[in-house]
Amino acid sequence: MFGRAPKKSDNTKYYEILGVSKSASQDDLKKAYRKAAIKNHPDKGGDPEKFKELAQAYEVLSDPDKREIYDQYGEDALKEGMGGGGGGHDPFDIFQSFFGGGSFGGGGSSRGRRQRRGEDVVHPLKVSLEDLYLGTTKKLSLSRNVICSKCSGKGSKSGASMKCPGCQGTGMKVTIRHLGPSMIQQMQHPCNDCRGTGEMINEKDRCPQCKGEKVVPEKKVLEVYAEKGMQNGQKITFPGEADEAPDTVTGDIVFVLQQKEHPKFKRKGEDLFVEHNLSLTEALCGFQFVLTHLDGRQLLIKSNPGEVIKPDSYKAIDDEGMPIYRRNFMKGKLYIHFLVEFPDSLSPEHVSALQKVLPSKPASELTDMELDECEETTMHDVNIEEEMRRKQQASREAYEEEDDDMSSGGQRVQCAQQ
Ligand SMILES: [Zn+2]
Ligand SMILES: [Zn+2]
Repeated sequence: MFGRAPKKSDNTKYYEILGVSKSASQDDLKKAYRKAAIKNHPDKGGDPEKFKELAQAYEVLSDPDKREIYDQYGEDALKEGMGGGGGGHDPFDIFQSFFGGGSFGGGGSSRGRRQRRGEDVVHPLKVSLEDLYLGTTKKLSLSRNVICSKCSGKGSKSGASMKCPGCQGTGMKVTIRHLGPSMIQQMQHPCNDCRGTGEMINEKDRCPQCKGEKVVPEKKVLEVYAEKGMQNGQKITFPGEADEAPDTVTGDIVFVLQQKEHPKFKRKGEDLFVEHNLSLTEALCGFQFVLTHLDGRQLLIKSNPGEVIKPDSYKAIDDEGMPIYRRNFMKGKLYIHFLVEFPDSLSPEHVSALQKVLPSKPASELTDMELDECEETTMHDVNIEEEMRRKQQASREAYEEEDDDMSSGGQRVQCAQQ
């Protein structure tokens, strides 16, 4: 009907759309737009494309600056931004501002300016202790919703939407349940026709790209940089990278570091702990061993000459712990926990050989007479933790039995008598 005008008359199209002459006054334009916009409003079954064109034409011609640019250079000049914006206008906003906000039946009354904040999306991110010692970058492919580019998040070709008939645009529905002759229960729940949005989009008018959903899924690869010295549970935030939705401030994607257990090293804050077993000979006579660090360096660890390492003792090496977050030239300590393996038994020859070199044992000052007065005992092996656990368990069971007797003998019988 209003085919694209040839190049030379490119600056008459808007006048044709509104059906006015090039010399039309502001009043003429208003009257023309009012009449055509009401007639073509999609809520009244009008053609959405036509409605959009009308709004666009009126928006330009009703603004004296834009009209001048249009008259001189045509539509393209406005699109190139000379008039401060040829695009981005919402035909409903124009319609609404023209009619003072109150369009018939709503016609987008739910398209308020209120900005909700979208939810943050939280992902756990597993990292090894090596990753946190050296720092690492992980590429993660995520799917998220983005505003449909075809309809700019309107969901419709025309930009139109109408009040959901199921909930009158409120987004909520109330159901009444009769619980008894004089009892009713009112329940409010999000409208399932419009999924709580309060809006419906005419089937014919649905955006072909997003099918009226306003958003489309998009694959995105995020590079997550876990810095040296970051802690278990520390968060790495990508602001505004969560799901997009219309009229919503996009939430963040948040990665929460989960440090995996390391087979050798344990971490406490900025310090590292490692266990090392020594034989009794090593503990007494000295040792050296190689410890491969988290970055692959080989540390030589050795005792001082003549030094004896006691069972369950600790030694520390400075600056071989974890790097300190954002102070990477500083590191914590590396603690070595020494366990000493004693031989299970010794032959008589070894005993006498050891007695010659070890400090002499306290002499037995017991006389035969005194020994005669003592009672003989025998010791046997015991796993003390196991033993204590068993004893605790036994005492708990005894207590529970007692408790059971109480309730069946007392309370339960009372209940039965009621
Ligand atoms: Zn609804
Ligand atoms: Zn779309």
